[in-house]
Amino acid sequence: MSSTPPSSVPARAAWWQQRGVLWALLVVLLLALLGTAIILAQRFQEAQAQAALELEAHNMVSDIRTGLNRNVQTLQNLQNLTDNEESWEAAALEILFQHREMTRLQWRDARLRLLSERHSPYYDDVLQQGMVYEGSQDLSASCAVAKRSSAPAFSSSQFWPGVPGRGLELIEMCLAVSFPNAGSGFFVMSYSLQGLLQEMIAREAQRGRVISFTEVDGTRLAILGTSRYERMLMAQVVLELPGQVMMLRIESPRELLTTPTWGITSLVIVLSALLLMLLGLLGYDMRLRLQAQRNLAEALAFRKAMEDSLVTGLRARDLQGRITYVNPAFCQMVGLSPAVLLGTGIPAPYWPPELIDEYQRRQAVRLAGQTLPREGFESVFMRHDGTRFPVLIIEAPLINAHGQQTGWMSAILDLTEQHRIEALQRASQERLHATARLATAGEMASLLSHELNQPLAAIASYAHGALNLLDFSNLHTPMSSPDVEDVRLAVRRIAEQAERAGKVIRSVADFVRRREQDGVLARERVPVDGLMEAIMPLLGLQARKHDIQLHIHTPPKCPPALCDRTMIEQVLLNLARNGIQAMPDNTPTSASGLRRLDISVAVHTTTEHKEELVFAVRDHGLGLTPEVATHLFTPFFTTKAEGMGLGLSLCRTVIEQHGGALTYEAAQPSGTIFRFTLPVADDAAV
Ligand code: ADP
Repeated sequence: MSSTPPSSVPARAAWWQQRGVLWALLVVLLLALLGTAIILAQRFQEAQAQAALELEAHNMVSDIRTGLNRNVQTLQNLQNLTDNEESWEAAALEILFQHREMTRLQWRDARLRLLSERHSPYYDDVLQQGMVYEGSQDLSASCAVAKRSSAPAFSSSQFWPGVPGRGLELIEMCLAVSFPNAGSGFFVMSYSLQGLLQEMIAREAQRGRVISFTEVDGTRLAILGTSRYERMLMAQVVLELPGQVMMLRIESPRELLTTPTWGITSLVIVLSALLLMLLGLLGYDMRLRLQAQRNLAEALAFRKAMEDSLVTGLRARDLQGRITYVNPAFCQMVGLSPAVLLGTGIPAPYWPPELIDEYQRRQAVRLAGQTLPREGFESVFMRHDGTRFPVLIIEAPLINAHGQQTGWMSAILDLTEQHRIEALQRASQERLHATARLATAGEMASLLSHELNQPLAAIASYAHGALNLLDFSNLHTPMSSPDVEDVRLAVRRIAEQAERAGKVIRSVADFVRRREQDGVLARERVPVDGLMEAIMPLLGLQARKHDIQLHIHTPPKCPPALCDRTMIEQVLLNLARNGIQAMPDNTPTSASGLRRLDISVAVHTTTEHKEELVFAVRDHGLGLTPEVATHLFTPFFTTKAEGMGLGLSLCRTVIEQHGGALTYEAAQPSGTIFRFTLPVADDAAV
């Protein structure tokens, strides 16, 4: 019905293994993804570093060009000093001082004959010692180009060994100049390629790098810096000069380059770590959820076992009255399967057709939100075979996790068995009641037959006496007046005795008459004096027979009792008769020797401030022995030969049905007092 059975252990193990493989796969994939991300991030960094290096190489080349152009201007300024050789030389020396990349400045005439020259003081040791540097062999060619283009032209580079171990790679720049007085000529400037690298590239850019000029074929011409690193990034850019093409190459260690872009890789690593951590947390959360799921499954299984073992039917309905849940006990009760019951609305298949209208009204009350009694209500359901059976339904609202009512949950008890037992009990109680009444009535009848003898005998003797008087008067007519008086008295006595006998018979008839409704008390306002009067004829007869004085005491203005008149008369008669029988004839019953029965009534106020009447019947007999006292109210317990043993138990039942209590106590100096209480009929009472 509601829950599924828990999975078997091997199936669960296989599922766990499968889950383990899935997790392993997830972790491997994630690691692969993270590895790839790190590699890609590094590649990206390298590509960025490479691009930055190439940009820097371009900037260096443009710096070198700018520097060379500035130097050309410096040379052009030198033209004005060609009048005076000394001043030219001084100026040339000044230029050489300022420009460490230059090794020599020459002034040549139009035929390239040397007119003047100065060497850079920085290269004195290389250029002036040992061999003299003659200059480039293709100088004339480059000067011719310079003259033609009116722009500086460069010769190809040339290695000048100079002092052993300190050779220089040199390049010459020829600039055609014309002088106002001395015609035209050329200025030839020798550059040290290494000097160019040193002077024209910013110091910061040189740090840690290897920067070099190479031929187009890769032959290295000049180099700046050395490398301590194995992994180098390399960028090279063409430096195209008029008459000369070279490559500028920068090599930069990767370690240096990665520093500024390290952030991306570390970001990827941090993110990966976070991802792994998240994965771990997810796994932990999953474990908690699985645990909760297992607990829930166990709780469900437990609940199901509990519901299945219940004999009480359980039924849940939504707010529209459709059945959403039933337990096996309920299905068994109504003889329908869960498949038939679940989802059915109003009228329910187990409602007896003749009660559908009433049940629908009840349902409407429930839907209107009125709360039902907690102790439940009785109803009648119908089994699948059409038989009706009584049920007790206890309903409670069904509240969901959000605190909203989603329907009703009902517990249903089959009352068939309970009703059967109750009916049996009632029947046996009624039988007992009837038996007791019959026994008492029989007893009373036999008593009456005996008691009626007395008035009847009296009537007979009075009648006989009167007849005698009449016969006598026939003989001696006329009848004397005393005789007439005697006859009148006799006839009056006859009438009195006949009336007494009639009263006795009426009271017995009243007593034995069954009520219209068996077992139901007909409560009414009964004056206490009336009660006493009703029992007096019978009681008086008995008392006289046993020579017992009867004393009745009722308080003045005694309030009436609320009771069933005949039943209470029966109780009083029973108690009085027991008291009389406790004082047998001609037997010294007690130390007092009194043969007297007292019946008294008192008004008593209870602790709840309610008035009640206390009836007491006191005899002067021998009292109760402990053995008799223990079984006093046990039905059929009697110590009398002709007794039934039902009187006292019947009395107690009657008094308790009236809401009172029957008690007894030993009287002093002898005898027993039986007391019972009755409610006072207030004005409102019927
Ligand atoms: P029954 O009178 O038919 O025996 P009861 O139930 O009235 O049945 O009384 C049960 C027994 O209780 C009596 O047999 C008697 O022994 C004892 N009993 C009842 N009332 C008195 C009494 N006033 N004094 C002594 N014994 C009594």
